[in-house]
Amino acid sequence: MNYRHAFHAGNFADLVKHAALLQLLIASAADPAPLTVIDTHAGAGVYDLAGPEAQRSGEAAAGVGRLSEARDAPAEFAPLLAAMKRLNGGGPTRRYPGSPWLVADALRPQDRYIGCELRPSEHAALRKALLGRPDAEALCADGFALAAERSPGAGQVLVLIDPPFERGDDYVQVVRTVAAVRRKNAAARVLVWLPLKDLETFDAFLRDLEDAVDAPILAAETRMRPLDDPLRMNGCALVLVGDAGEAVDGLTRICGWTAETLGDGGAARIYRL
Ligand code: SAM
Repeated sequence: MNYRHAFHAGNFADLVKHAALLQLLIASAADPAPLTVIDTHAGAGVYDLAGPEAQRSGEAAAGVGRLSEARDAPAEFAPLLAAMKRLNGGGPTRRYPGSPWLVADALRPQDRYIGCELRPSEHAALRKALLGRPDAEALCADGFALAAERSPGAGQVLVLIDPPFERGDDYVQVVRTVAAVRRKNAAARVLVWLPLKDLETFDAFLRDLEDAVDAPILAAETRMRPLDDPLRMNGCALVLVGDAGEAVDGLTRICGWTAETLGDGGAARIYRL
């Protein structure tokens, strides 16, 4: 396991993922039933944008740095910007919130969060980031293995699957995990983040997912540039399995703005399977 999210925190892909995640949480809050959020690959929870990793990659400057200055960003980014303000005490954006912090910050008293992180150093940081939040649990565990086991069998469940995709079997594991969660709770919604390098890999993943689950599937591609170099991360995709509710319009604006404003000849594609 070499992947360190500190190099990528606050980049375009985090903006898309986190803005979409917050939209789903806001929509879930319309239902008073308790919500359980399971984050299979939680990361460290909070990232230092002034740290050597972020400074070296420059990805946060090209992502959240530009979003913070933008005057034309769609309203769907407002909850993320507001969360960043809370995390930074209203001062300059030195720290960027990962999915665990964002979810824990948005929980209602009846909700809970379970974050899995395998890397011990990241898990230690995650525990620290969630200190004082009794409804948020940080497990040092394999999120693929625990997602279905920890999903309640009924009620509102949202599972975020956000692996590093550094292992050859990550795509297969994602499909297996989505299917297992949906078998446990047929109403569960699963949001998967994926890199977009070439379309063949992504299309093959979607076909496998369609074969494995009997549920509505919504795909949202944020192409930052034409997909003509399969060795580069040319964009990212979000795949929402389960009831998409009113998510399409928001995703269209989130992905569209990111691709067109932060990308280089980029474009977004949102479609149902
Ligand atoms: N979801 C986080 C966010 O949005 O802030 C970012 C997560 S990062 C892309 C992926 C994380 O998964 C890394 O911190 C890595 O150490 C961890 N990881 C890798 N394999 C894992 C596994 N099988 N179970 C749990 N965590 C894993």
